[in-house]
Amino acid sequence: MRVLLLGGGGREHALALGLAADPAVQTLIAAPGNPGIAALADIRDVVAADPGAVAALAVETGVDLVVVGPEAPLVAGVADAVRAKGIPVFGPSAEAARLEGSKTFAKDVMTAAGVPTAGAYTCTDADSVAAALDAFGAPYVVKNDGLAAGKGVVVTDDRASAEEHARECGRVVIEEYLAGPEVSLFVVTDGEAAVPLLPAQDFKRVGDGDTGPNTGGMGAYAPLPWAPPGLVDEVMRDVVHPTLAEMRRRGTPFAGLLYVGLAITASGPRVIEFNARFGDPETQVVLALLETPLAGLLHAAATGTLADHPPLRWRDGAAVTVVVAAEGYPATPRAGDVIAGADRPGVIHAGTRRDADGTLRSAGGRVLCGTATGSDLAAARDAAYELVRGIELAGSHHRTDIAAAAVEGRITIPA
Ligand code: AMP
Repeated sequence: MRVLLLGGGGREHALALGLAADPAVQTLIAAPGNPGIAALADIRDVVAADPGAVAALAVETGVDLVVVGPEAPLVAGVADAVRAKGIPVFGPSAEAARLEGSKTFAKDVMTAAGVPTAGAYTCTDADSVAAALDAFGAPYVVKNDGLAAGKGVVVTDDRASAEEHARECGRVVIEEYLAGPEVSLFVVTDGEAAVPLLPAQDFKRVGDGDTGPNTGGMGAYAPLPWAPPGLVDEVMRDVVHPTLAEMRRRGTPFAGLLYVGLAITASGPRVIEFNARFGDPETQVVLALLETPLAGLLHAAATGTLADHPPLRWRDGAAVTVVVAAEGYPATPRAGDVIAGADRPGVIHAGTRRDADGTLRSAGGRVLCGTATGSDLAAARDAAYELVRGIELAGSHHRTDIAAAAVEGRITIPA
């Protein structure tokens, strides 16, 4: 199989590791890639969110499968353009990617499908914002109603900050606050058949103890020792299959990766959000545990043959990833700093670039992810932090509590 992978972050480095390890993959091409991916794939330059350019590259390189990593190309219609050339693509159509691209659309689909989620209002002016904030009370949840790379959400007890975020965004979705631990569940689907991956948890806030602003994600672990038995089956039954059925009913089936972000509340799992692609950094830990060849799985989803795919096989144990972020991330990340200690197995490149002389430099907010597996969560966590300790990057910061509460048995579901 010849595979073209689109994107250049940590998620795509993790996908590249999985694809390159699949014995069915003879050639892996990545665009635009990054220095970590360059060790596994031929790198091509393309504007990943330009449907015509990506389709032309897929034709030129004669690939059998295109895997779209990030959300922006999906919302721009890259999967449609590639599919129109008769090339299988793992990633939903632009219409279906609206499950991520518009919070209002996602709420409409959930309501029609009877999916348990937070109550919400879409607001466009100060009066409707005030009414919605009054209706739900604190803590206030205010979401930009468009793609915001995971950073368009403000959760706060401070009324003025909630109103200010709403003003800045223009069109927002204001939601009921959902209390309970969060779960990220990735589901591979061809639009009809659906296969869940292992549930994972990520860490959105920049600081230890879930303090500071939201980020793209500062670390993750899988599986979840505290998850209620039957959680995945319940989410497949009550969330995933009804949502896929509603998307088919609308004539816009969702095929690709449905990312279900959930809060496990006192009344059961509630959807916080859908994404239309693998999450970053949960992909790093979930794929580290997947034994089933990745390209075969994604190809089955891309060709509508997922129902015939054998059950997934998983490695025993657990995986942890810890993000090393640039100074100033998330507000004003500094780029261009020299990195040492990154060229080791398990160090995933998220925001890096390499000079002509081979020097590795930071080139993004989230720079590297120390990713390790272990016989249990505690061992995986120790190994991930050992990797992080070996990384040198001036001014960088990372959370020190990734997976700590789970290891210590401190995660509880509200009664
Ligand atoms: P989102 O981009 O929708 O995933 O939101 C980012 C983060 O904000 C989530 O991972 C949650 O931690 C938090 N969040 C979003 N919606 C809610 C909600 N309704 N209740 C509580 N927390 C939320």
